Amino acid sequence: MFKSNYLKNIYENFKEENKDKSEYLEAAEEILTSIEPVVMENKVYEDKALIERFLTPERFVEFKVVWTDDKGNIRVNKGYRCQYNSAIGPYKGGLRFHPSVNESIIKFLALEQTLKNSLTTLPMGGGKGGSNFDPKGKSDNEIMRFCQSFMTELYKYIGPNEDVPAGDIGVGGREIGYLFGQYKRITNDFSGTLTGKGLTYGGSLARKEATGYGLCYFVDEALKTIKNDSFNGKKVVISGSGNVAIYANEKATELGAKVVAMSDSNGYIYDEEGIDLDVIKRIKEVERERISLYPKYAKRGNYFEGSRGIWEIKCDIALPCATQNEIDLKSAKTLVKNGVILVGEGANMPSTLEAANYFIENDIIFCPAKAANAGGVATSGLEMSQNSLRYSWTFEEVDNKLKDIMVNIFNNSYNETLKYGKNECDLLTGANIAGFKKVATAMLEQGI
Ligand code: NDP
Repeated sequence: MFKSNYLKNIYENFKEENKDKSEYLEAAEEILTSIEPVVMENKVYEDKALIERFLTPERFVEFKVVWTDDKGNIRVNKGYRCQYNSAIGPYKGGLRFHPSVNESIIKFLALEQTLKNSLTTLPMGGGKGGSNFDPKGKSDNEIMRFCQSFMTELYKYIGPNEDVPAGDIGVGGREIGYLFGQYKRITNDFSGTLTGKGLTYGGSLARKEATGYGLCYFVDEALKTIKNDSFNGKKVVISGSGNVAIYANEKATELGAKVVAMSDSNGYIYDEEGIDLDVIKRIKEVERERISLYPKYAKRGNYFEGSRGIWEIKCDIALPCATQNEIDLKSAKTLVKNGVILVGEGANMPSTLEAANYFIENDIIFCPAKAANAGGVATSGLEMSQNSLRYSWTFEEVDNKLKDIMVNIFNNSYNETLKYGKNECDLLTGANIAGFKKVATAMLEQGI
């Protein structure tokens, strides 16, 4: 698989050590494959054992989270924080609350985050954390007690210059509020240790919208540069109906596209007239309900059981915004057969490596997560800047900075794509190399 013996040995050892961690292995394989030409050109990486060091998290903490449910039962979950790499800044990355969370998922996300944060050009290292706690069906009080218990352990490892967590799947504004409240109570310190905060206590305008909007800014730039085209008049399918999916829909629609399908983990909706986003916001943001209610509330469109079927819908642009590995090779083949021209990843690693390669080999513009969804963490970086300045920028100011950052991420990735990619659509190689180079240089300059 690798031409370089150095990388071949590293990957074999890595595989042996992590044989039970499929997501982590997949992410490492993808990155190593992309950066191989750069590693072969720069002998210093091997001389300084840089790749071994890069592929080893600086710290990984696992802890128990004990809390009481509304019936008085004592419940126990696992908590994690992976502080992957701090070469270019304090660790930064979200917290995920979902029953599937385990060491493999946290490490894969933290590794991805390291390159993503590097791409933003802001001074942020990479980290990720979370719990196998399932927020679905829990009362507000249960969520609060869980968050308080989680933070009672996590606070020992974080701080505004050390590690700054944020939200991810299952962790939105409500959870960040409870986590922040507990952090402040325990440490007696009002600081920007978490991002994604509410606007009344240090949050940034446009943070909520940032990942979805940023994805669309990236996609629009890719369409303009590679195809002299735009979102205007395009038929778009978006998986998921959470934070990223909702604001990707909002921006794509504003840019002239028609979003015809969205999903949750049970099924998807199809609305040929274009999805009524106010209805989705009511269902998901206000009522915290299932997307199956859409046809009843919107009085149009249809609901189908099973979330994977969404990739059978004919579209020009596919924006997977739900979760990892939601597009496998079979779904990728269907999308290509149906004429998709671009795939933009809002979720982290939603395409399997096979699916990603299939898109690229078929000249479909492939916008990989670590570049295309970096708008969320970039705006978290802007939230940190505002907290340090004790100042707030307007929505427009933050949104303009976000747009500039996404255009820059595209250009930096595209430049490396032109040098090292399989073709012009291979932004995966370009993004991995652009993100890696900066982290590698910082690591080399800081010694061992
Ligand atoms: P949310 O919790 O707000 O929404 C997640 C959405 O994905 C929900 O609609 C959920 O449906 C759906 N989903 C979850 N698991 C599955 C599954 N196995 N199959 C199908 N659908 C599923 O999370 P976010 O929108 O914040 O995050 C979505 C993705 O974007 C994640 O991969 C996350 O890591 C990534 N991301 C998020 C950022 C952010 O700023 N929020 C930043 C960068 C990346 P249901 O309600 O049924 O569970």
